[in-house]
Amino acid sequence: MSASTLVLAPHPDDESLGCGLLLATHPEPHGIHIVFVTDGAGQGPDRALQTSRREAEARAAAAAYGVSDGQLHFLKLPDGKLSRYTREFTHRLRSLVDRLQPAIVHVPFRFDRHPDHLAVNRVACALHDAGELKARVLEYFVYTRSRLVPGGDLRALVDPALLTRIPPDRNAVEVRRRALQCHASQVATGRPVLSRMLLDRLDQETECHLAYDARAKGSKVLVRARSWVPVAVRVEPVLKSLSDRLRGRR
Ligand SMILES: [Zn+2]
Repeated sequence: MSASTLVLAPHPDDESLGCGLLLATHPEPHGIHIVFVTDGAGQGPDRALQTSRREAEARAAAAAYGVSDGQLHFLKLPDGKLSRYTREFTHRLRSLVDRLQPAIVHVPFRFDRHPDHLAVNRVACALHDAGELKARVLEYFVYTRSRLVPGGDLRALVDPALLTRIPPDRNAVEVRRRALQCHASQVATGRPVLSRMLLDRLDQETECHLAYDARAKGSKVLVRARSWVPVAVRVEPVLKSLSDRLRGRR
């Protein structure tokens, strides 16, 4: 069992949000492996049920890209708490890459705002820097918008020479839509995690992948707002949870 491409998804749906067009246009779906790092169970009461539900959704979404069950790996580390389990994650990722020998590994962007996403980026890049992951590492974007950065789009601040772009070809967009709809717990009615507005916007956008290079760490890949971006992406979730709480009180 070997892989040409390994996608590290912190949660089920990140594979589609960040790499959906890549997966949909990949010339060899049989060479793709996807690792779902956390159980995606959220913080609700019935974690076991939610874990199995999200696993089933992830399997269905992967099938939409032609990626079969044997190419999926569910590590089931605790959703929202991955930074406390980096040793275990490192250990398990090391044995997976030893076995699969991927040529390319996809990880979330270094300035993502979700702590689980950041933990995945850091663990994979550390393995790469230590010479234990002999693959090209590419960073994908899940949270692309920030009200706190100039222009509002993080991708526009990254050195364009380091980005690979996949345009929103109609067929690929449709495949990704089908995959995203499989994550029914995230797109269902009420207050869905993945809103219709977000999905519609995604359909129009070019998907970007940033080439990781150990010599260009942190802000070195940015062409603007180098010292502000790392601060902004930390402040934003705090502001959001504050405003959510205020809105809830009204
Ligand atoms: Zn996620």
